Amino acid sequence: MQTIQSDSYPIFFDNSITQLVSFVKQGNYSRVFILTDENTGEHCLPIVKGQLDVLDNFDIIEVNAGEESKTIDFCIGIWKMLIDFGADRKALMINLGGGVITDMGGFVASTYKRGIDFVQVPTTLLSQVDASVGGKTGVDVDGIKNIIGTFTQPKAVFMHGDFLKTLPARQILSGLAEMLKHGLIVDTAYWDKLKTSDLSLPSIELVHRSVEIKNEVVTEDPHEKGIRKALNFGHTIGHAVETYSLMNDEDSLSHGEAIAIGMICEAWLSNKKIGLPDSELAEISQVLNGLYPHYKIKESTFPTLLEHMLKDKKNQNGKINCTLLKHIGQYSIDNNCTDDELCDSLRYYAG
Ligand code: NAD
Ligand code: ZN
Repeated sequence: MQTIQSDSYPIFFDNSITQLVSFVKQGNYSRVFILTDENTGEHCLPIVKGQLDVLDNFDIIEVNAGEESKTIDFCIGIWKMLIDFGADRKALMINLGGGVITDMGGFVASTYKRGIDFVQVPTTLLSQVDASVGGKTGVDVDGIKNIIGTFTQPKAVFMHGDFLKTLPARQILSGLAEMLKHGLIVDTAYWDKLKTSDLSLPSIELVHRSVEIKNEVVTEDPHEKGIRKALNFGHTIGHAVETYSLMNDEDSLSHGEAIAIGMICEAWLSNKKIGLPDSELAEISQVLNGLYPHYKIKESTFPTLLEHMLKDKKNQNGKINCTLLKHIGQYSIDNNCTDDELCDSLRYYAG
């Protein structure tokens, strides 16, 4: 499979772990650090470590698994470890994990001594098709997601399909929502292919196409001024539902589960506002409802959801903007939606 060339770095697919070893050797780094969490330390590190053992100098930094670790406190812990280990400007950081590790590791590396090299080795489907590509790094503060961070590109990204074999089914579904989104916004043939594929463990070929799409969009618009907004499809309503669920449910929705709901609602808005054909709306709802469990949204929660949407950092002048679809495979940015329209779209999902 072809290596995808982003602006300044390659994204490897074939023999990617071997490629990682050659990359590290060629870089002449003074020291190599691998950032993992408990789960990637158990399931993914052995795969990488076996091959990296040829190097003399590498250390492992492990953090607790989960979003709770994506904080400045954890960054301080990692910065201190780098200092204790004597990491200089020629050190390399290998971020081996899901989006929490690639976001936080990227942030730590981009700020330590004003920036050291880092590479991303994403191990969840979401981090492969989304978080590891595009150069956004960051951490949460006071529960506000990704509020502190940088735009810094890694030196390379290494995609290894086998990592997904140990990933829980809900984590697969979470990443899958972004893949379906990629098809819906720009590639009808890819959407059609996803519909007929075995999605319980998406193939590396499917991951490759998603990465290609995400890479094309972010390369054209690295700082989110125009076309990158296409990637927000499903996210205006999806983020609000995700935030609500995080605050209220014991077993909260994953990012992708919430985005799937957002995509159904925003497909309905697309149909009402910019003419997405009825048959395409029906198809999107059927596919997404077939893949994701139904989530109960009561009328009484609508005001809270609207408040979350209004707080969304993507809005301007107190208006709620959505990326919608003219057709499957054809996005449209900056569609202003009224509260009534947004509530009706939630009613469509709630049934
Ligand atoms: P995550 O890193 O918390 O991973 C999810 C869980 O899977 C964790 O418990 C992790 O330990 C475990 N895990 C990871 N790889 C595994 C494997 N191969 N086998 C078994 N278990 C494994 O979360 P995520 O869902 O990957 O990513 C979510 C994060 O990504 C959020 O913080 C979000 O803000 C960020 N994100 C960033 C961008 C971006 O553009 N930078 C885009 C999307 C999401
Ligand atoms: Zn997303």
